Amino acid sequence: MSDLRDLYQEVILDHGKNPRNFRKLEDADHQAEGNNPLCGDRINLYLKMDGEVIADIGFQGRGCAISTASASMMTESVKGKTRAEAEALFQRFHELVTGEAEASPGAPELGKLAVFAGVRDYPIRVKCATLPWHTLRAALEEKQETVSTE
Ligand code: ZN
Repeated sequence: MSDLRDLYQEVILDHGKNPRNFRKLEDADHQAEGNNPLCGDRINLYLKMDGEVIADIGFQGRGCAISTASASMMTESVKGKTRAEAEALFQRFHELVTGEAEASPGAPELGKLAVFAGVRDYPIRVKCATLPWHTLRAALEEKQETVSTE
């Protein structure tokens, strides 16, 4: 497991152990459930929208450090953003973790989400890192079925 050590940078460990916004929103008006059977990660995501803006967001679930940290940092990153801004951030994040492309002009800044660049060398971990984002998209689109990375 030593080659995984590079993944567990301090910030990921911190968010994995002490996830932010780890709570159910009792007044959520959007929610979705995500499942990554390959790793066993499960997430329930709750949103409270104010028009197009994500006014509040919380999640619960069980997962590995990567998925928990990704969910935690995602909630911090998209809170207060519009639906379109959150979607743009997801696209940029997806490019980062899959190593598909350099940032296109006008792409949003990832900020500390950039620590997840390390997962691109571990395809299984890419699913852990993107699960919360796929679940966010489903919640925004009001999809009823559970999101699965498989
Ligand atoms: Zn995982």
